[in-house]
Amino acid sequence: MNTYGRQPVTFEKGVGVWLYDAHGDAYLDALSGVAVNGLGHAHPKFVATVSAQIGRLIHVSNIYHIAEQARLADKLAEISGMDKVFFCNSGCEANEASIKLARLYGHHKGVENPEIIVMERAFHGRTMATLSATGNRKTQAGFEPLVSGFVRVPYDDLEAVKQVAKRKNNVVAILVEPVQGEGGIHIPADMAAYFQGLRQVCDENGWLLMMDEVQSGIGRTGTWFAFQHTGIIPDVMSLAKGLGSGVPIGACLAKGVAADVFTPGKHGSTFGGNPLAATAGISTLDIITEEKLRENAEAMGNFLNAQFTEAFKGNKAVVNIRNAGLMIGIELDRPCSELVKTALANKLLINVTAEKVIRLLPPLIISQQEAQELVNRLVPIVKTFLDVTSK
Ligand SMILES: *Cc1c(COP(=O)(O)O)cnc(C)c1O
Repeated sequence: MNTYGRQPVTFEKGVGVWLYDAHGDAYLDALSGVAVNGLGHAHPKFVATVSAQIGRLIHVSNIYHIAEQARLADKLAEISGMDKVFFCNSGCEANEASIKLARLYGHHKGVENPEIIVMERAFHGRTMATLSATGNRKTQAGFEPLVSGFVRVPYDDLEAVKQVAKRKNNVVAILVEPVQGEGGIHIPADMAAYFQGLRQVCDENGWLLMMDEVQSGIGRTGTWFAFQHTGIIPDVMSLAKGLGSGVPIGACLAKGVAADVFTPGKHGSTFGGNPLAATAGISTLDIITEEKLRENAEAMGNFLNAQFTEAFKGNKAVVNIRNAGLMIGIELDRPCSELVKTALANKLLINVTAEKVIRLLPPLIISQQEAQELVNRLVPIVKTFLDVTSK
């Protein structure tokens, strides 16, 4: 169906940070399939591990115990401090699980009409519940009636959340991205203070703090999960994108009371956490550890930010350059979606989100030389665009 405005290119293979089209032309991938291919393309160890699993067992269904799923759950629990995991196949499904979990938690407490606080500019997916939780009218328009039960507040505004706590007695959870991705790479001004504040409001009111780490998780911001920059731990966390390095997998993790809300029959997924997807998750986590890719994400993110800051110094049309590891946003003073095509013509794959923000999500394996090449390709394109579009 006609659901995508696609770029005029088809890729035949990939190696590391490079994608190749049918003519053999190489493109520098600074988007990673939207934060999915953290290991780059065709990582030899990942390919070998996943290929071997395909030869052994792909799927059996959750009617049976799945050893690979249990192993991945243990690993995720260990690196996150969470207690239990539900596996699904995508980010919106992981958030659907979080939303269902919060509602069930509310009903168990006797809250008849439970509501969840969500943020302006948030993105949580495109299923009915998750597009209703999303803070972007364009995502919602035409799909009314929306799912009810969400209260919206501005992002990075603790006071607004406290006001809701005073006003309402049926709130059961907050759903929030630690760094807003689709919304334009927004990082709270004082990330630790904001999330510590949210943690406190949740504790005082018996609410669940639910973090959507679908884009920010799995090493992208320099830690396994972005919440690990804040000194607190959420009750619920959703994952997907980078978790399977391209093999579809999502996960909803929970801790403490939240971990025991679901009982058999309350939620499920046919494919969720099957041997193939779980093995892809295990291999991804192993390689991130072995190759120190969290450390690399932090170092390369800071390197890229410094390079862009230097290159655009004094240019008033570049409003802000910000990054959390390899989630990088360059905000311009004007809409710039046409830069995606210009970059493509220059063999560079980027994204523009929230109309004015150039979004870069390079693979976690990117080397400094490749990062420099990314700068060398992007800076002149942006400078020319700003010149041409200035009066
Ligand atoms: C991409 C994304 C989603 C949706 O994930 P899908 O796999 O496309 O359903 C949800 N939340 C965040 C923060 C995302 O970036």
